[in-house]
Amino acid sequence: MAKPNNIRENFNIKKDIKKQIILTCPHNGRENPFGVPPRDGSGLSEDCHEPFETKADRFTSKLTEYIASYIRELSKKDVYIEIGTIHRRYCDLNRSKVCAFEDLRVKHFYDKYHNSILTKINEMHSNIKKKGSFSFHFDIHGMRRPNKAGCELLVGTDNTHSITKLLERNPNALFDKNKNGLIKLLIENGIPTCPSKKGDPEDRNFDGGETIKRYGSSGRIVNGLNQSIQLEFAFKLRNNDENRKKTAKKIAHCVVKFCDEYI
Ligand SMILES: [Zn+2]
Repeated sequence: MAKPNNIRENFNIKKDIKKQIILTCPHNGRENPFGVPPRDGSGLSEDCHEPFETKADRFTSKLTEYIASYIRELSKKDVYIEIGTIHRRYCDLNRSKVCAFEDLRVKHFYDKYHNSILTKINEMHSNIKKKGSFSFHFDIHGMRRPNKAGCELLVGTDNTHSITKLLERNPNALFDKNKNGLIKLLIENGIPTCPSKKGDPEDRNFDGGETIKRYGSSGRIVNGLNQSIQLEFAFKLRNNDENRKKTAKKIAHCVVKFCDEYI
């Protein structure tokens, strides 16, 4: 197939076909702001109760770009993406503001990233003609260690809060056999996913961070009509370019089929 980087040109995506999917990737930035010391947790506010982490995710930006390219190819619609550029040592884009940074000089990285996501979600909804139609948001991450249960992809919805509106419409949306449940499709496509069946708990450490909480149903942005899902990929699914493309192709296939049921 054509190189994913050129898919926008190669697949004749029409500008008037509306985007209803956004991908975000907060933890693979490499930028070191000049003169700013790395975070060590000491400068965080007492109001911060989220876990502290400075290690970046690896290879997730490229994976995000590939997923977007394959979604464009399959759906013939454009996709929004937002990829964080700052290294997690200096700012954690997937944290609330009080937990994200300790040096005010990096505040603009945080604001720019989140303002841009918000603008894009608002843009998607201003273009949607069908009343009550959803948009979908996938927040892309990478696991550092293999999951003990053998799961290669952890799906997080803040224990259903980030997809409340979707579940009101279809309580079985992730697992539905007849309506292209996302998790059902992922497993069928050879990706061992956790949770794997309805009622299974989400992984406590990866059930969803600030980004899906803020932009998903529970965040009430666009009346809660944006449905956010966090995807945490095993290293083997993204460790080299061949695997990244293979993974991205499968994910795009599942995402397009799943989202098409609701957009
Ligand atoms: Zn991450």
